[in-house]
Amino acid sequence: MGYRPREYDHIVVGAGALGTSTAYHLSGHAGRTLVLERFYENHAFGSSHGRTRILRTAYAEGTAYVPLVLRARRLWLRLGRETGEEIFRPTGVVLAAPSNSAALARARASARRYSLSSESFDPEGARERFPALQFVRGDAALWDPAGGILFPERAIRAYRRLAHDRGVAFRWNFPVTEWRRTSGGRILVSTKTREYLAHSLVLAAGAWLPTLVPSLHLPLEVEQQTMYWFRARDQRDAPFRAMPAFVWYSPEGGYYYGTPDVGNGVKIGGNVGQRVRDLDHRPLPSLRELRSIQRFLKSRLPGLAPEPRRGARCLYTNTPDKNFIVDFHPGGANVVIVSACSGHGFKFASAMGELIANGVRRGSLPRLLAPFGLPTVRRD
Ligand SMILES: Cc1cc2nc3c(=O)[nH]c(=O)nc-3n(C[C@H](O)[C@H](O)[C@H](O)COP(=O)(O)OP(=O)(O)OC[C@H]3O[C@@H](n4cnc5c(N)ncnc54)[C@H](O)[C@@H]3O)c2cc1C
Repeated sequence: MGYRPREYDHIVVGAGALGTSTAYHLSGHAGRTLVLERFYENHAFGSSHGRTRILRTAYAEGTAYVPLVLRARRLWLRLGRETGEEIFRPTGVVLAAPSNSAALARARASARRYSLSSESFDPEGARERFPALQFVRGDAALWDPAGGILFPERAIRAYRRLAHDRGVAFRWNFPVTEWRRTSGGRILVSTKTREYLAHSLVLAAGAWLPTLVPSLHLPLEVEQQTMYWFRARDQRDAPFRAMPAFVWYSPEGGYYYGTPDVGNGVKIGGNVGQRVRDLDHRPLPSLRELRSIQRFLKSRLPGLAPEPRRGARCLYTNTPDKNFIVDFHPGGANVVIVSACSGHGFKFASAMGELIANGVRRGSLPRLLAPFGLPTVRRD
């Protein structure tokens, strides 16, 4: 290339939830930041689209997540105040399951450990309190009143706008093809047409992350999930607008989730995904997944018509234990690897972006991110 690479302090790869939040939090301090995004703002090829996301605080996946989600919740509310937009709606979240469910027990334990307010219901109490949902004998429910729903496209746009106003440059349709360390210790980032130099690099590339660190052989598996939107059978949508978000754990260890009707139907998804081996050739939504969701609706939300109004595919980037990976690249503390998905990462993006930005500036990652260190990886 016949020109000198443009120089920045920080480069963030990926303008999904994690990359945009990180860029915003980097922008509050001295230094120039560039975000390079493969597609365009709020595209639907990654993991951060789909109109709603659930934020739960009583966290079945582990107590380590609770301080993180509490900080994230505060930051989402602050983002809403700063922009005058509704980013988070505190609908509360119901966690439902068979009464002997291990997931429910873990959620209860995390609520206890952090003195979160929560309330337990038997099937009768739950039916009365949450009339859109059908509970039967043997069910139990845990009410997480601090939970609610996030509006992901709005949140990402808000962080991008604020970051842009504070001087962050965004380049759309700019896939990063490779990066390497220079002899001077900086990072050279290449796209098809340009090169950039930076002191630090944040790789928040979602499902594409392994292509940017092939030598690490990250143990990530990409799974496609289709979310569907359903309307009330008899046009009586009101109970579905007023209902809380929910996660319903099944006895087999899987789950279904739903968010209230915010104008386009009740969104329902489950964990019957499809493995994606080639991101450029993704499977069509499977009938098996839709049928499994319809069976769930029939038994738990019988007031919804079973034919979906709309569906959208979305990607989970799963680690073997469904936790996250957020760590420095083994080559040095100026490249951060962010794989905050495993299907439950959105709610944390505000806090993770803040922590990652602090880590990048200080050269050491904050303690709250310690549980998400790189697994022992094979390096070429
Ligand atoms: C159906 C579904 C439901 C979910 N529900 C919830 C929920 O209720 N609550 C919750 O907390 N979480 C939920 N999640 C998970 C959550 O949405 C994700 O964890 C989160 O959005 C991941 O954000 P990300 O920034 O890591 O990835 P992404 O949003 O995919 O962003 C990565 C970005 O990097 C870009 N990129 C990739 N490679 C390159 C490259 N080489 N150069 C430049 N750019 C590149 C991509 O184009 C993309 O924009 C759900 C996920 C799905 C799929």
